[in-house]
Amino acid sequence: MNQTETSNRLSFATDLSETEVEVSVVVPLLNEEGTLAALTEGVFEALLGKTCEILFVDDGSRDGSWSEIRKLSQRFPNSVRGFRHRRNFGKAEALATGFAHAKGQLIVTMDADLQDDPLEIPALLAKLDEGYDLVSGWKRDRHDPISKTIPSRFFNYAARVASGLSLHDFNCGLKAYRREVVESLHLYGELHRFTPILSHGEGYRVTEIPVTHHPREQGKSKYGWTRFFKGSLDLLTVILLTRYLQRPGHFFGAIGFISGAFGLGILSYLSAAKIFFGVDIGTRPLFFLGILATLFSAQLITTGFTSEFLLRVNSSERPGHRISESTKPPSNSPRN
Ligand code: UDP
Ligand code: MG
Repeated sequence: MNQTETSNRLSFATDLSETEVEVSVVVPLLNEEGTLAALTEGVFEALLGKTCEILFVDDGSRDGSWSEIRKLSQRFPNSVRGFRHRRNFGKAEALATGFAHAKGQLIVTMDADLQDDPLEIPALLAKLDEGYDLVSGWKRDRHDPISKTIPSRFFNYAARVASGLSLHDFNCGLKAYRREVVESLHLYGELHRFTPILSHGEGYRVTEIPVTHHPREQGKSKYGWTRFFKGSLDLLTVILLTRYLQRPGHFFGAIGFISGAFGLGILSYLSAAKIFFGVDIGTRPLFFLGILATLFSAQLITTGFTSEFLLRVNSSERPGHRISESTKPPSNSPRN
């Protein structure tokens, strides 16, 4: 290889590293035209000196959000990209779209309404630098109406107890992830609130830091108090997904066996009463309870088996996906 070739290669390599994105900021949004320009400037200011990109995901807005995103991506063609959903699919799907297109090794998510402060991003990244895989914001002084903050306290308490992960605030829009964490997530429905629990379940190191939270100054909140009911149901699903993901048959099977033992116990007692004492059992409420409990048990056990089969099929698609590091065998070394 001559001198010119070497320097060409080197400059190519330098170019490559220059275009490598260090941080991707994913912003899901629905009708937030008023804040996008200021948000973009805030993110650039916060990430000065780093190669970064902003991915706006318009989740079916009906205001001028999309034309605002187009303007910003024309103004900053190398660092702002926009994606538009055909209709509103929800914040989790918007995040999933952003994650699928993010190029950075580190990925930050934030809400578009400027309630999250872009200037907090460096603090989140510094915490990742300490070795954490996911850093979640904690809105310690939260600026939202009481109709939100009270249910949210209950929700966070339930999430803490059920998951065993001691965060104060599971639902802060501002979070930072290592790329591999994002790749392990499969977000849909309302699962965006549970990324710390899902990632903790996968064995990633999760922590939180307090962040400033501003009142919403433009547009309206997209969520009312009903989300906490939906959120609580989702919490159940997530606990199942994280705690029993490896052996769903054990979870369903255990309840199934208890219910089955109860049902069969009742039916045996009634059968004995009929056989030995001639008692008429056909109309006794206990009889129906016994039958119900036995059927319920059969159904749960079958559900357990079905889940195990599904798991078997899915987990064989990604063998080794739980490994974080492995030792490298020395190349060409003889076995000893
Ligand atoms: N959002 C979204 N799709 C939705 C609902 C909300 O992309 O279906 C976005 C919204 O535009 C904002 C973020 O998710 O950027 C958080 O929503 P919001 O500020 O309404 O939630 P709150 O702060 O009231 O909890
Ligand atoms: Mg908000």
